[in-house]
Amino acid sequence: MEEEKKCLICGKSFLPNKYRPNQSICSSLECQYQRQLNNMKGWRDRNPNYFKYKEIQDSSWKETCQQRSLEWRKRHQEYLKLYREEHRERHRNYMKEYMREYRRLKKAGQG
Ligand SMILES: [Zn+2]
Repeated sequence: MEEEKKCLICGKSFLPNKYRPNQSICSSLECQYQRQLNNMKGWRDRNPNYFKYKEIQDSSWKETCQQRSLEWRKRHQEYLKLYREEHRERHRNYMKEYMREYRRLKKAGQG
């Protein structure tokens, strides 16, 4: 059966994906992004020597590093784009409601 859960990040209740019943974070873009950041941080905390070790072992480490940050930036920009689009939609709805209310009040004032 479908059972609502509370998102660990935003605290809103959501229905977990039926393929991922252990999901503890809602599917909102913001929470998914936050989860990604947390994963990255968690991994680094668990592997504190990984970066140091790699630096010594791998002479092309700097290149890899640059490549990674480029990829990350690209993902980040994609996220920001999606975020903006989502908010544009929200803003549009807000304005629609606002204008409806405005017209209603105007009409009432004239009547
Ligand atoms: Zn959430």
